Amino acid sequence: MDKNLPEINVGVVGHIDHGKTTLLSRITGKFTDTHSEELKRGITIKLGYTETLIYKDKDNYNAKGKGKPIRYVSFIDAPGHEMLMAKMLSGAAIIDAAILVIAANEGIKPQTREHFMALQAKDIKNIIVIQNKIDLVSKEQALKNYKEIKEFLKGTIAENALIIPVSAQQGINIEKILEELTKLKIPERDHQSKPIFLVARSFDINKPGTTPEKLKGGVLGGILKKGVLKVGDEIEIKPGISIKKPHKETEYQTLTTKISSLYKGKESLDEIEPGASVSIETALDPFLTKADSLTGCIVSTKGVLPEISKKLDIEPKFFEEVLGIKERKKVEDIKTKELLMLSINTTITIGNVEKISDDKIEFALNIPVIALKGDKVGIARNIDGHWRLIGFGKVL
Ligand code: GDP
Ligand code: MG
Repeated sequence: MDKNLPEINVGVVGHIDHGKTTLLSRITGKFTDTHSEELKRGITIKLGYTETLIYKDKDNYNAKGKGKPIRYVSFIDAPGHEMLMAKMLSGAAIIDAAILVIAANEGIKPQTREHFMALQAKDIKNIIVIQNKIDLVSKEQALKNYKEIKEFLKGTIAENALIIPVSAQQGINIEKILEELTKLKIPERDHQSKPIFLVARSFDINKPGTTPEKLKGGVLGGILKKGVLKVGDEIEIKPGISIKKPHKETEYQTLTTKISSLYKGKESLDEIEPGASVSIETALDPFLTKADSLTGCIVSTKGVLPEISKKLDIEPKFFEEVLGIKERKKVEDIKTKELLMLSINTTITIGNVEKISDDKIEFALNIPVIALKGDKVGIARNIDGHWRLIGFGKVL
C-alpha cells in the first residue's frame, strides 16, 4: 500500500435498522458485526471497524483493486440503538467525516436527530447523506422522503450535503458513494504537536495456547489525533489500569511501555502520521489490554499527558429540547448534585455536578479522565431510565 495516499476516517451513523452495517459491508466488501453477541441480536453493540482502499479506473470508483488506488478510508460503524448513544459519541471523537444513513421508508427518526446533532457538536462538517432502502418505496414516497431530508438539513452544516439514493441490500448506487468518499476534504493534520493517540479498542491478539516466547504484546487500536509515533517510542497510557482495593476507592495506574510494532490494516509501518487509524502493538502483558480494557485511554510519549484527574470544568451549551426521544421535551435546568453522563474523546464517565456558575459547570467524576483543554464533551441526562443527549461542553 502506498503510505502517502490520502487517508480519512469516516463514521457511519443513523437510526437503528436503517442499514448502516449492510451499507458498510457493501462499500468495503467486509463485514463489521463480528462479535457473536451482535450477530445473534442483529444489532451493532460495539463500534465496528473496517477499512478499504478506493481505486479509480477511468470513471469507475471501486474497492476491488481495479485501476489506481487513490484514497485510504477507515470506517467506524456506530451503533444506532438508543441505549448506545454514548458509544456513538465515542465514535464521533475519532472521525473526520460521516455518512448519515436514513431509510427512505422510515424517514427521520430519534437517533437520526441525535446522531446528526452529535456530528454538528463535534464540528464534523463533511457529511454524505444516504437515502437507503429505496427498493422498498415508490417513486412518490422516495420524493417525499427526499423533501423531508432536505427540510431536516436546512440551516445546518449539512444544508448542501449530497443526498444519494441507495439500496444497500441490492447494491444500488454504491459506486457513487465511493466516488464521493474520494472527494471528501481531508482535514489539516497537525504533525508538529506532541502525539495524542485516542484508544478506541484494545485486545489480546494471541491464540489460546501460544507459547510464552511467541506471545505478542498487548494491542491498542484507535486514532492518532496529532503528532507522530514511531516503533520504539516509549509511551505512556493514561488513565491506565484500574486497581480495586477492598474498602478503598479504585485507583488508576498509568502504564508505560514501548511501541513494538504499528499496523494499518494488515500493513506494518515504522511510523504513523496524524489522522491514521492504526493498531499499536506494545510490550505490555496482553492480559492488560484484553477485552477493550484500555478503551478510552489516551497515549502519548512520556511526560506529555496531564495528571489523572477526577475534577472536570466545562463550559456547557444545552439544547432547547432533549434529543433521542420521540416526544418533545424541554431540557430542564441543571441542578447541583445531579449526576450526568459525560462523553470525552473515546471515554465515558459520570459527573456529579458540584458547582454551577454562568458559563461553567464543575464536576466531580466517578471515573477519572484525561481531558485536554478545548476537548468537546457530550452531556447526557438520565430521563426515565435512559441516557439522553441534552447538550455539549468544552473542557476549560
Ligand atoms: P443498522 O442497524 O443501521 O446497522 O442496520 P442493518 O444494516 O443491520 O440493517 C437492518 C435491516 O435492514 C437488515 O435486515 C438489512 O438486511 C435491511 N436492509 C439494509 N439495507 C437495506 C436496503 O437497502 N433495502 C432493504 N430492503 N433492506 C435493507
Ligand atoms: Mg449496525
